[in-house]
Amino acid sequence: MDPAHKKYALAEVPRYTSYPTAVQFTDAIGEADYRLWLSQIVPGEPLSLYVHVPFCQKMCWYCGCHTTVAHTYDRVGVYATDLIAEIDLLAAALPVHHGGLAHVHFGGGSPTLLSDGDFAAITAKIIAAFGARDDMELAVEIDPRTMNAQKAAALANAGVTRASLGVQDFNKHVQEKINRIQPFSLVKQTVEWLRDAGIGAINFDLIYGLPGQSVDDVRRSTELALSLRPDRLAVFGYAHVPWFKKHQEMIKQEDLPGMEERFAEAHTVGQVLQNAGYVAVGFDHYAHPDDAMAKAVGSGALRRNFQGYTTDTADTLLGLGASSIGALGPGYVQNAPAMDAWRNAIHAGQLPVIRGVKLDGEDAMRRAAIMTMMSALELDLAAHAEAFNAPINAMDDALEKLLPLAEDGLVTLYDRRVTVTEAGRVFVRNIAACFDTHWQPSAKRHSRAV
Ligand code: SF4
Repeated sequence: MDPAHKKYALAEVPRYTSYPTAVQFTDAIGEADYRLWLSQIVPGEPLSLYVHVPFCQKMCWYCGCHTTVAHTYDRVGVYATDLIAEIDLLAAALPVHHGGLAHVHFGGGSPTLLSDGDFAAITAKIIAAFGARDDMELAVEIDPRTMNAQKAAALANAGVTRASLGVQDFNKHVQEKINRIQPFSLVKQTVEWLRDAGIGAINFDLIYGLPGQSVDDVRRSTELALSLRPDRLAVFGYAHVPWFKKHQEMIKQEDLPGMEERFAEAHTVGQVLQNAGYVAVGFDHYAHPDDAMAKAVGSGALRRNFQGYTTDTADTLLGLGASSIGALGPGYVQNAPAMDAWRNAIHAGQLPVIRGVKLDGEDAMRRAAIMTMMSALELDLAAHAEAFNAPINAMDDALEKLLPLAEDGLVTLYDRRVTVTEAGRVFVRNIAACFDTHWQPSAKRHSRAV
C-alpha cells in the first residue's frame, strides 16, 4: 500500500448503502410519516421489496447481521405467519396505482431456514398482494449448510431467479476460527442443485480480513470460487466490532490480519477476479462480463442499496420483517428490530416502523451525489447541482475536502468534475464522505475503509 494511503484505509467511514446513514435515524419518524410517504408513490412506479428473516441455525463468529439462532422451527414458523400479516398491512397502505414489484430480495439471517412450505406461502402472498412485473427478479441469500436438492427445487418453484451464497472462505483453518464449517464440496453441490433446478444466476459473498487468513488463503478461496463460475461476487472486509456484536469476542484480536495484510488480501481477490475477466463494480463487487451488473457499469444503470450494488432500477424499496429498512423518495424508515415490538405492532394493525429520517432538499441532492460517486465513480458537480435547482457551487465544500485526496492520487478534479482514479476505487467511501454533511470523522460508528 502507498504509505500516503494508510490514513484512508484506517479511517472509519460509512458504507453509504443509504444517505443519510442509519446512524442519523431517529424516532421523530414513525408510522404516520411512512403511511404519508407510501401514499405519495407516483402512478406506475415500480417497487422493490426486501424481506428480512432473522434466524440462523448456528452463529458465525464474524457475523454483523441482525439475526439469532433458532434452536427449534417453532419461532421461525410463527415469524412466517406474522410476515404474511405484515404483507397485508403494507399492501393495504399502498396506493392502488403503483407499478408492481421489479425486485424482491430475501435476506437475513438465513432465509433458507424457512420451510419449503412457508417460503412458498410468503412468496405467493407477496406476488398476490403487490403484483409482479414481467421481468421481476426474486433473489435469496443462501446458507449452503441448509441446502439440499429438494430445497433448491422448492426455491425455483416459488419463483426464485437469483441465489446469493455466503461462501466467505474455503480454508478449513479459517472456517474453524469463524465457526462456519462449509467445505468446497458442499458449496459446489449447492450450486449444482440450484442450476439443475433452473436458478441460473449465482452470486457469491467472499470475506477478507478474517482470523487466521493469509493472502495465500484468500487467493485459494477466490480461485476455488471462480471454478464454480459465479455471475457476481461481493467481496467484504471483516469488520471487528465486538463491543457492538458480542459473539465477535470469540474471534481473538491477535488472529486478525494487520492493516497491510488486509489491504493485500483485498488487492489479491480483485487481481485474481480481474485476471479471470471479471469486471470491477464499484469498490467491492465483481461481475462476469456477460452479467447485467457488468453491463450496468459505465451505462449509468448501476445503483446502490442496502444489499450493496444492484441493477434494480426501482426508486422505492419497501422493507418487511424485523429490523428491515425501507428507502423512499422522502426518506428512510426502519422496522422495529426487537421481535416482540415488531410482532405487537403488526398484531395491533400498525406498520411496525419505529425510526427513520426525512430528507430535506440538501440531503436529496447529496444522496444522489454520493450514490453516483459510489456507483459511476465520477460526478460533474455543476450539472448535478443544476439538476437539483441549486447554484453550480452548491457542493464546493466537497471540492475543498477532496483537495488532499486529489494530492494523494485518489481523485482527479477538473472544472467541478470529480473522477475516481484506479488507486482511489478502493477508497471510494472516503471520497463519498467528502459530500456528507452529517458524518463526524471522530465518531467511531462505522467500519474501516479497508
Ligand atoms: S449464516 Fe449469515 S446471518 Fe447467519 S450467523 Fe452466519 S453470517 Fe450471520
